Amino acid sequence: MPLDFLTLMAVMATNLFMISAALPLIMGRGVSRAARHVQASLLLQAVAWAAIIASSSLWDQALSTLSIACNAAAQWMLYRALEEWLGPRPLPRLLLVLVIAAPLGYTLGFGHYAWRVGWANFLMAAILCIVARATLAPVVESSLRWRSLLLGCLLTSAAFTLARGMLGAFTDQYPSFRTPHPVNLAAAMATNVSLVLGTVALLVAWRAEAEQKLRTLAMTDGLTGLLNQRSFAQQGASLLAHAARHQLPVTALMLDVDHFKQINDTRGHEAGDRALQLFARLLGDTCRSGDLIGRLGGEEFGVLLLHNSAPAGMAFDRRLRRRLHAASVAELGFALDYSAGLATPAPGETDLAALMARADRALYEAKTAGRGRLVAAS
Ligand code: GH3
Ligand code: MG
Ligand code: MG
Repeated sequence: MPLDFLTLMAVMATNLFMISAALPLIMGRGVSRAARHVQASLLLQAVAWAAIIASSSLWDQALSTLSIACNAAAQWMLYRALEEWLGPRPLPRLLLVLVIAAPLGYTLGFGHYAWRVGWANFLMAAILCIVARATLAPVVESSLRWRSLLLGCLLTSAAFTLARGMLGAFTDQYPSFRTPHPVNLAAAMATNVSLVLGTVALLVAWRAEAEQKLRTLAMTDGLTGLLNQRSFAQQGASLLAHAARHQLPVTALMLDVDHFKQINDTRGHEAGDRALQLFARLLGDTCRSGDLIGRLGGEEFGVLLLHNSAPAGMAFDRRLRRRLHAASVAELGFALDYSAGLATPAPGETDLAALMARADRALYEAKTAGRGRLVAAS
């Protein structure tokens, strides 16, 4: 079956335009930055293809330069989406330099065929390899499939781009990107497949992001952003088990804001909410990474300090109290105080509920002894 190369390219550009028009519709409003970068990337690719087709009949230099610029920018956008999803990626500066240099060198050397074809394709291949590399780390099981699929698509495109560069720069058998040369035909077909599979990979990535958001939402308390009771219990149990296995000291604290009902009654519920947010923020500031903080009830908080025995727990309480007194007056306009109970697990103890119950009894003692203090369980 004879293939009309220009028709293939036109179908490709149409596909890309349709996908980039459909994506915002199916993703809806208020999508994440990563999803917006993906949408922009596909639109830029669509413009790139349309420009390369159009350049065969008018404004060759301007439109083919525009095409390379859009193609390079599309890869930059894809890289940005990967950054949003997977954290900082390697070689961002080099990528940016290549994205700018590819169209610039192409248009400056436009008069020299071998130069411009070699330059644009070699740089585009390097760009694709950097974006492909950005799909590699970290090795998180949950995202492995879509990342592998995207990696395959990007490497395929890079291989064909490199082949075009070699042909154009070092042989005289490559008339142009738009001719039905065998490499162009194979590349167009592979790019069509890559486009479909790459879009699938990106949609799966977007779904994974939404799932992660839901998980975070289910784990945290909406007002303070701290762990909710259920996830505090789950993560606390693992922390205790880890500490018991490695014989690490742990200190548990139960904290309860004093006379909080009065704050709500005299200053309003909103002031109460702000007080809780401030308290949660200071708890976070006073903890170290690896410690666990949860909002266990209305104005009741639980803390597990890893690598800390009782004296360090008491020092934690003193630091928090000092910070709270200063910050509550400055930020809320009134002094906030709390009572706390402290307990430590017996060697090898892994029962979180029992540990927290001991801390809670100590907290009750602190309340009955006059509030605004810490009591350690005996
Ligand atoms: P105590 O010193 O004995 O701890 O007295 P208290 O007033 O702090 O304790 P009590 O348990 O009587 O009151 C807790 C109040 O916390 C009652 C409830 O309306 C309020 N509360 C619970 N959740 C929230 C919340 O999310 N926002 C606000 N503003 N108030 C809340
Ligand atoms: Mg209270
Ligand atoms: Mg309470």
